Amino acid sequence: MIKEQVALITGGASGIGAGIAKRFARAGARIALCDIDEETGRATAQAIGEKARFYKFDISSEEEVDNIIKKIVEEFQTIDILVNNAGITNDKLLIRMTPDDWRRVLDVNLTGTFLVTRAVARIMLKKHYGRIINIASVIGLIGNAGQANYAASKAGVIAFTKSCAKEFARRNVLVNAIAPGFIKTRMTDKLPEEIQSNYLKLVPLNRFGTPEDVANLALFLASDQASYITGQVITVDGGMVM
Ligand code: NAP
Repeated sequence: MIKEQVALITGGASGIGAGIAKRFARAGARIALCDIDEETGRATAQAIGEKARFYKFDISSEEEVDNIIKKIVEEFQTIDILVNNAGITNDKLLIRMTPDDWRRVLDVNLTGTFLVTRAVARIMLKKHYGRIINIASVIGLIGNAGQANYAASKAGVIAFTKSCAKEFARRNVLVNAIAPGFIKTRMTDKLPEEIQSNYLKLVPLNRFGTPEDVANLALFLASDQASYITGQVITVDGGMVM
C-alpha cells in the first residue's frame, strides 16, 4: 500500500502525529518525523525504529522549513506523503485576545501549513505523484467560543486544502483534510475536566477519539485505495458534526 514510500509528518513527536507516524511505519513507510519538541520527537522516532528519523524545525519559520526539507530530500531521496499535523491552541475570549495570541496561532497552524506544503509540493509536482493530508479540526467547520484564532486558522487550512487540490490535481498530487473532533492528546489533556465532560455530551458515540482513529483515515487517504479522492474534508469525531 504505502510500503517503502517516504512520509513527512509534522508535529510527529506526540498525539495525533505520533499515532500517524506509528501507523504508517507499520504499513512499511519510511518516516521523516518532524517537530519543534526535540526530546519527545527523538524518543518517538527511536520507539518506531530504523524506519524513522527525527528532524527538528519550527514550521512557521520559512528558513528552517526550506533548509530541513532540503536535508530530508537529500537523505530520503524523495517525499511521497506529507501530513501537515503540527498545530497549537491559545484559547481566550475574543475581547481578551491580543494580536500576538492571534498571530502565533495563525502563524503556526496556517502559515506553517503553507510553508511546508510549498516546499514539499515542488518535489511532488515534479514527479507527478504525491499525497498531502492536512489535519484541520471540526472547530474550523463549526467555530467555538474562546477559539476564534484556532477556528480561523483551521477554516483557513480547509480552504487552503481545496485550493491546493485544484491546483495540483493535474499532476496527480491529491490533497485532503481530516477534521478531528475531540481526540485524547497532550493538547486536550490540558483542558479542565468540566470542559472535557461538556464535549463528551456532544459526541453520539460517547467516547473521546484516539490518535489511532485519525491515523486509520490518514493511512487510507495515503493509500492507492483513495486515488479518486481529492479536495475533501472528512471528520473523525464520533458523530459530533453531521
Ligand atoms: P499535540 O499532542 O500537542 O501535538 C502537536 C505537536 O506539534 C507537538 O509535539 C507540538 O510541540 C508540535 N508543534 C507545535 N508547534 C510547532 C511548530 N511551530 N513547529 C513544529 N512542531 C510544532 O496535539 P495533537 O492533539 O496531537 O494535535 C495535532 C493536530 O491535530 C493539531 O493540528 C491540532 O490542531 C489537530 N487537532 C487536534 C484535536 C484534538 O482533539 N487533540 C482535534 C482537532 C484537531 P509542543 O508540544 O512543543 O508545542
